[in-house]
Amino acid sequence: MVTSRAIVYSQYGEPSEMIKLYKYNIPDPSENEVLLQSLAHPINPSDLNQIEGVYPSRPELTKELGTNDPSAVGGNEGLFKVIGIGSSVTGFKIDDWCIPKNVNFGTWRSHAKTTENLLVKIPNTKISKTQAATLSVNTSTAYEMLTTIVNLKPGDWMIQNGGNSSVGKDVIQIAKKLGINTINVVRDRPTIEELKQKLYSLGATKVITEEENNSKEFSKTIKDWTKGSQVKLALNCVGGSSSTGIARKLSPNGVIATYGGMSKKPVNLPTSLFIFKNIKAVGFWITANSNNNPQQKLDTINQVLKFIQEGDIADFETDKKIIQLNTASDEEFLQSYKNAINDSKKSKQLIFY
Ligand code: NDP
Repeated sequence: MVTSRAIVYSQYGEPSEMIKLYKYNIPDPSENEVLLQSLAHPINPSDLNQIEGVYPSRPELTKELGTNDPSAVGGNEGLFKVIGIGSSVTGFKIDDWCIPKNVNFGTWRSHAKTTENLLVKIPNTKISKTQAATLSVNTSTAYEMLTTIVNLKPGDWMIQNGGNSSVGKDVIQIAKKLGINTINVVRDRPTIEELKQKLYSLGATKVITEEENNSKEFSKTIKDWTKGSQVKLALNCVGGSSSTGIARKLSPNGVIATYGGMSKKPVNLPTSLFIFKNIKAVGFWITANSNNNPQQKLDTINQVLKFIQEGDIADFETDKKIIQLNTASDEEFLQSYKNAINDSKKSKQLIFY
């Protein structure tokens, strides 16, 4: 038996105020059950949106773990290590790495028990804990957006805003591997040259600021860069005027796909682009894709694993909040999550055990 410390919420609202620590005992695994210890997991925008109660896919609030109020454990993706197996488990052994197959797993906990059919094994060579803990949402999203929305061929161009987001950086690297040119829009800042160099070192073809994206004159520069090649795809995770800017860069019949709304402003698309350039506006949601086509999700995970292990997707910097499981008090455990949630507005946060 192990005691798990879980970060739960029973009401929707401001995430750092809603989360509580809950301890519960997990009996030894039997039959096809696998006992897991957390190694690492990210704090993703959608995890916070679930606690805010504004995300359409949410775990049910239940008393399953023994909480007084119906509750759910936070977190959708994460990396675990196998520390116990039931008698009929065939696909896992002690110390294997694995990730949950489905969303709404409740990854924000020190230990968990589930059945082996709900886990995907991750080989623990040539891949970091950070990469393994984040590949099923962000890296998979980047790969599927580049390969399933339009038919991009080597030499084609695409444009994205949020170029500095975790998904954006995966888009840059996967596009480079596929021979696709990228124009990456980022917010201006005093250290813009440093940021541009970082994205160029990942394989970005061009990096521009939101001001340049919004400037009609700058379109001429982009035409000089693309030299008549098609800009077939625009990926939008910001909305507002940023979405207008990237849509204007599309070639006739291009597609703008919206997958996030970081500015919290509506997507703004000029009528003329629909009439005179026949652009299409679509949405993308990895959760729906995974639910509708579980095999595609597994294929995607295997493909991005290959990219990572072959060195095509670099390990990336994150702000890690490290929890020493044996020595951290309950207060320290909960505070690590509150700090990570608060800091997630500044940079990508990972909880490491
Ligand atoms: P990160 O936390 O890594 O990055 C967030 C990014 O958003 C940063 O680049 C930041 O820019 C930018 N940003 C924040 N606020 C604004 C703003 N007001 N205007 C412009 N840019 C802003 O995020 P992730 O990569 O984890 O996620 C990015 C988006 O993708 C989120 O909206 C997330 O929900 C969505 N997503 C959607 C999926 C889907 O299937 N639909 C799957 C995975 C993610 P800066 O660097 O300047 O601070």
